[in-house]
Amino acid sequence: GRPKVVVIGGGAGGATAARYIAKDSAGAIDVTLVEPTRTYFTCFFSNLYIGGFRELSSIAHSYGTLASDYGINVVHDWAVGVDRDTKTVTLASGHSLAYDRLVVAPGIDFVDESVPGWDLNAQIKMPHAWKAGSQTQLLKYQVEAMPEGGTFCMVAPPNPFRCPPGPYERVSMIAHVLKAQNPTAKILIVDPKEKFSKQALFEEGWQRHYSGMIDRIGPDFGGGNAEVRPDAMEVVIDGAVEKVDVCNVIPAQKAGHIAHLAGLADSSGFCPIVPATMQSRMDENIHVLGDACIAGDMPKSGFSANSQAKVAAMAVRAALTGSRAFPAKYSNTCWSLIETDDGVKVGASYQPTEEKIAKVDGFISQTGEDAALRKATYEESLGWYAGIAMDIFG
Ligand code: FAD
Repeated sequence: GRPKVVVIGGGAGGATAARYIAKDSAGAIDVTLVEPTRTYFTCFFSNLYIGGFRELSSIAHSYGTLASDYGINVVHDWAVGVDRDTKTVTLASGHSLAYDRLVVAPGIDFVDESVPGWDLNAQIKMPHAWKAGSQTQLLKYQVEAMPEGGTFCMVAPPNPFRCPPGPYERVSMIAHVLKAQNPTAKILIVDPKEKFSKQALFEEGWQRHYSGMIDRIGPDFGGGNAEVRPDAMEVVIDGAVEKVDVCNVIPAQKAGHIAHLAGLADSSGFCPIVPATMQSRMDENIHVLGDACIAGDMPKSGFSANSQAKVAAMAVRAALTGSRAFPAKYSNTCWSLIETDDGVKVGASYQPTEEKIAKVDGFISQTGEDAALRKATYEESLGWYAGIAMDIFG
């Protein structure tokens, strides 16, 4: 029969890989995509939904086109085990799937105990909204229901985490909402990191648009030593108790659980890969993509996952059908919206070396840019979203 590829995870990385393997092999490879949810909400632009710039439906995607137009066998189930010796994936339903090559792209899970007092049971009171959908909706409603002059607190994650500028774009979008609806409200960021992505750009924007509203406590002032009490809606920072009205806890992250079960992660919690092909360093029959992998200089982003998926798809086809593999090239751009029409970006291109995916050259928005350029940057991000959604889901 045809060679078989199983893809675990239908997000930015996995769905792209499935689509490219199916499309470019024109039926020569049997592709199965395993994804528990029928509707995937992109984390990208989920902050814009919180800010009121997008509808929730605009970030929702389904798998129908991958099945109907690309002949991908879409299985809505959880992968619960990988037997690397027999090359089979076990599903929660009890069925199993055989593979010649496996693509593992489960995204992230949270590190237990990373924020004392918080676990998944607390996500209803203190949402993470770091996987999009109901959590994002909950956080938006909580922000809109804040009492006048209330406090929104974000417990920001340590490195490495998905979407380095994401927490700070989220703060910007929440400030945008509060400025209009609740202008005396305050935003408190409790941050274990010394510095963060596009920091100068965010701080300039916060000063310009949301002066006096946002306060960030870095590690020198206890930002790395936060505990939460979800029932009391309290945050304890270096022993000092703060009463808050909304608390967005974004815990430390690791590769999705199935990657650990499959023995693909190292002590960092993420999965080492071969930079030229995205093959696991633990198993040459497996490729690991997106947030779950250790992508060297690349940030964990949807753009990165999509870029890595195309390299992996090419390597998988070359291995299974003898098609030609070109040298790997990767790219990424992360846009962030600070206020209406005030968009900024950071990006780079990358190439594999023996030991890592290495940055070749990059660019970043500058402080002091004029309004027309910032608006153009925002509009560029709208085009990017439409394009990548098509590239992932067909
Ligand atoms: P995901 O997209 O999370 O997909 C993983 C999939 O695997 C999920 O659908 C999950 O259901 C499935 N899965 C997990 N376990 C299993 C299992 N056992 N069996 C089967 N399926 C499983 N990136 C950008 O490029 N631009 C942005 O503007 C941007 N903004 C962001 C804003 C926020 C608030 C956040 C949180 C992230 C943002 N990102 C952005 C980052 C981006 O969302 C992630 O980097 C990207 O989704 C990673 O893709 P992935 O395929 O690795 O994981």
